[in-house]
This record gives sequence, C-alpha cells and structure tokens, in this order.
Amino acid sequence: MGSAKIDSLVSVDDVAAHLRLLGAIRTYLRTLLKLRHIVFIDGAFRPTSSGQLLFARSAYRLKLWIENVLRPSFELYGPRQGLDEPELPPFDVLVMLHSYMLHPRSFYEDTIRVYPELALLSGFPLTQVSEQINDLMEYTPTAKQVAFWEFATGEVFVAPFSTAHYDTFKIICPSCTHPVVAHWTDTSSDVLSASDLSVQCKDCKLQLTDPVLSVAAFLKDIGRSVSGQGVGVAGTLLSAEGKFDLERSTAITSKIATAVDFQKIKKLPLGDAVRHLQKHSHSMFEDIEVEFLSCYGNPGGFSLDLGNAVLRQGSFASTMFHAGWTEPAFPSEAPSTIAESIKRYRGFLELTMKEQAPIGPTSEIDLVWHTHQLSVNYREDLMELFGWFLDHIDVAPEEVLASAFSNASDVWEKAFGTPYDGYFEAKVFRRQ
Ligand SMILES: [Zn+2]
Repeated sequence: MGSAKIDSLVSVDDVAAHLRLLGAIRTYLRTLLKLRHIVFIDGAFRPTSSGQLLFARSAYRLKLWIENVLRPSFELYGPRQGLDEPELPPFDVLVMLHSYMLHPRSFYEDTIRVYPELALLSGFPLTQVSEQINDLMEYTPTAKQVAFWEFATGEVFVAPFSTAHYDTFKIICPSCTHPVVAHWTDTSSDVLSASDLSVQCKDCKLQLTDPVLSVAAFLKDIGRSVSGQGVGVAGTLLSAEGKFDLERSTAITSKIATAVDFQKIKKLPLGDAVRHLQKHSHSMFEDIEVEFLSCYGNPGGFSLDLGNAVLRQGSFASTMFHAGWTEPAFPSEAPSTIAESIKRYRGFLELTMKEQAPIGPTSEIDLVWHTHQLSVNYREDLMELFGWFLDHIDVAPEEVLASAFSNASDVWEKAFGTPYDGYFEAKVFRRQ
C-alpha cells in the first residue's frame, strides 16, 4: 500500500470546514424541529407530513439547480470545474447535496444514469460553504448568489417553510412530454400531502400520479437500454467492486425486461402499464436479485430518498454538536484532536483493506470518512487503495452495525495495541 497516498486523503482544514457545515445543518434542523416539520422520536429525527412536503420541495429545488445552473456550465466546461460563487445554491439544497454525496454509490450511479452534470462538481464545495457560515452557525449567502439563483430557477432563495395552495411545480408528462403544472398541496383541503400527486395532463389526458411517474421512469430506462441507447436500470450500473460495467447493466436490464414483459407493456397506455406492473410485480421479479425498484419514485428523480438521508445526517450533526466539535473555536483550539482523528481514519482504512470489509467506524473516524466522501477523488482513492469501492451504508440494521463494531474493536486492538472506542467520548470540547 502507498502510505503517502493514504496520508494525503483528508486535511485538517477539510475536516474543520465539514464541522462548520455540520454546525449549520444542526441550526437548520433546529428550525425545522421548532416549526414541527420534523420530530425527534426514539432517538431519531422523523419528518411530519409537512416535513415530507418540505423535503420534496427541496429535492425539486436540487433538481432545478442541477438542470438550470450545473447543466449550462457543464456543457461549456466539462467535469470537475467546481462552482463559481454565484452558482452556490441555497442552504436547503446544499444540505440535500451533502447527504446525497454521503451515498457514494448512488451518487456515482446517478451521475451516469440521471444527472451527468453532477460531474461538474469538484467534490462538495466545503471550503466555499464553510466560509459563508457565521459564528452563530447560520448560512449567509451573498447578494450575487441570491440574484443568480432566482434568475436561473425562478424560485425564492430561502426555502419557504410553509406551502400555499398556489405554490406549484412543473412535471414533464412522461407520455406526451408536455409540461404539466402541479400543486404542492391538495387545493380542496388544508391537508398537506407530498405523496398524493394527482394531476391530469391537459394534452394527452393521462392522470399523473406518483406510481405513474415512477413506472414511467423505470420503463424509460429499460427502453433506452434494450434499444442500445443508454445504461440499464438503477442499481445495475456498478459491479460489486464499484466499477461502471455497461455490459453487466445491459444484461441484467434485459433480464428485467423479459420478466416484466416489456415488449407487451410498452404498447399499453402508461396508466394500464402501471396497473399491470402493480398486479404482477411480485411474481415478475422473483428470480432477479437486484434491489432497483426503490430507486424510482423518489422526489426529484434521485435514486434515494434524500429527505430521510438528510435526517440521518442530522443525527450525526447532533452527535458532533453535543461533543462541542461544532463550536467555532474547536478547530483552532484543538487541531491535534482533528489530526489524530485523521490518523485513526487511516488506521480504519488499513484494517478495512486487511479485512476486505469495512469495520464499524467510531464517531471521529466516521467524521473523517464522511469528509473524504465529499471530496472529488473519493471513489478513485479507494479503488486505487483497495481495488474495490468502499460504499457508505448508514441504513444497515442495528445488529449488523453492532457486530461490525465489536469486530472492529478486536481487530484494532490487536493491530495497534490501543483501545478502539472511547477516543471521541474523551475529547469533548468545552464550550465558551
Ligand atoms: Zn401528456
């Protein structure tokens, strides 16, 4: 292993910038808590129905940012250019992007399958964003940024915390490709509902609902793949090692096409195709092992539910906050704690490499790991070091995480002769 390589992966400044971002994420979630968009139950944040709506709107705003801000720049300049200051999006969008990138496998797949313009990013804009966060851990955008966002997307900059009957968004009809205007809330009642879309396309009369849209996206991907014009369905693009493998994706997608009787249902009106799939999907997918249907039907067309991903990161931000690590003075007064955490992350990588499987991370290792995932080279770094791609899974069952962690303690103590856990807990930072 090149230890020079492993030494240069994450810097103290990167981690400090990330901590500042986590501080601001916590401020943002505090506001959502106060407004009852989210609640804290059984040790986790959960969205209320108004919170689900709010996250659906943020996912839509992220999609608008990708299409209206990233796309033109990407077409001009190509990948990894990074962002100019006016291109930085509002904070709710940044929070979604942050959680999105912490699912490196999905993010990378979506960059190939759905939103190639995401490749414009040169990692998460950690330094730029952290410089815009004040000592009260609030995000403070510039006037140029606000003006550019509003011009490019037609949306207000600060995400509205409430939704009115007249607030709308645009869907492209999957059947006739005409734009359809939909309301975020049901106009006939005060009940906010993010998940009960029902609007008719004025041109082709198709009733657009969430199942119709997700099945349409799924069938479109199948159609593109079987006609040789694109990659396969979500969840099939990367090999187990994390390499993009078009041949594999095409082969699995063709198997799925047969299983769903694609040649027949592609001739049906979309509404009927949906009903057909719903009725038969259990038997259809029995012999296909790929988890792909959950990748369709998320707000914004992303292959995961970003609202829930944000809330999982919210819990992590709370952990950092309660240990005092998001205090503005922490990086300057405790730089050795950050440096030591980075060292421990290197140990984590070495052992993961040795074990050929990720060992359960402690909080300070997780922090550095997340910071690394936000960098533009995360995937390549890991491929170079391991020959396979270490994905970040934060939704594994509790008992799986617990056993990964107890295994980690043993392996760590044997390898380095120091205790694995307890480091983070011992480094609580005193608040001013
Ligand atoms: Zn239509």
